[in-house]
Amino acid sequence: MQVKEQLRGLPPYQPGKSIEEVKREYGLSDIIKLASNENPYGSSPAAKAAIAAELDRLAVYPDGYARTLREKVATHLGVKETQLLFGNGSDEVVQIFCRAFLEPGTNTVMAAPTFPQYRHNAVIERAEVREVPLVDGRHDLEAMLSAIDERTRLVWICNPNNPTGTYVNETELRAFLDRVPPHVLVVLDEAYYEYVTAPDYPQTVPLLNEYSQLVVMRTFSKAYGLAALRIGYGIASEALIRAVEPAREPFNTSTVSQAAAAAAIDDETFLRA
Ligand SMILES: *Cc1c(COP(=O)(O)O)cnc(C)c1O
Repeated sequence: MQVKEQLRGLPPYQPGKSIEEVKREYGLSDIIKLASNENPYGSSPAAKAAIAAELDRLAVYPDGYARTLREKVATHLGVKETQLLFGNGSDEVVQIFCRAFLEPGTNTVMAAPTFPQYRHNAVIERAEVREVPLVDGRHDLEAMLSAIDERTRLVWICNPNNPTGTYVNETELRAFLDRVPPHVLVVLDEAYYEYVTAPDYPQTVPLLNEYSQLVVMRTFSKAYGLAALRIGYGIASEALIRAVEPAREPFNTSTVSQAAAAAAIDDETFLRA
C-alpha cells in the first residue's frame, strides 16, 4: 500500500462522543451536549415537513445546482444566485477552496488554534501551512499579514473563532482587507454568524462588492439546527464562484438537505427562538 505521503500521520477528524455514549457512560437519562455546537433546540418544524415532502423523489438524483435553495439564499442575502457555492456542509466548501487553490509550492495562512479543517485540507493538497498564534484568544491580523508572501493563496479568518469565540470587528477587518495583496483570497468562516449580537461585528456580504478577493462561508448546521443534513455555502464574486465550480462534485448536496434548508431559511420564528 502506497498511500500519499501527506496522509501518513495525518489524524482523521476525531468527533466528540455521541449523546448516547455520554448518557451510557455517566448513567444520565438526558443531557445537552455542547461540544460540537449543535443546536439543543433541534430544527425548524418546516424543515422536517419539507423532508417528508421529498420522500417520493429519492430515486432521482438531486438538482446538482440546488436551484430552489439557491434562489432562496440569494434573495435572503441580497446577492446574485451565481455568487453562491453549496457544499456538503461548510466542511466541503473548505475542501473545495483548498482543492481549487492549493498545491505544492503554495502556502496558506491561518490562526492557531482555529477550526482544524483549514489545516487538514491544506496538508492534503501539500501546501505549506503558516499558523499564526492567537493573542489573548484573538486573531493576530498584523502577524497574519506578515506571514503572507507571493506564494500565499488563501488566508482563513474564523469569525467568530472556533474554539475561542472571539471576533474580528468591522474596522479591523477593513484595515486588514485594505492591506492584503490582490492575489490572496481571504476566507471568512461565519459558521456562528446568526448568534452574533455585537454591533461592531462586520456585515461582510456588502463588503463583497468592495473586495473581490473575499469569500464568506455560512452553514445550516449551527443556528438552523440542521447539522445532520450537511449544507453549508460560500458567497463570493461571480467570477470566483465560477472559477471554483469545477472542483465541486456534481451532486454534492442531497434533495432532502436542499429542501430542508430552503424551508429553514423562511422560518425566522425558529431562528429567533
Ligand atoms: C461547525 C463548524 C463548521 C462546519 O460546519 P458544517 O457546515 O457542518 O460543515 C465550519 N466552521 C466552523 C468554525 C465550525 O465551527
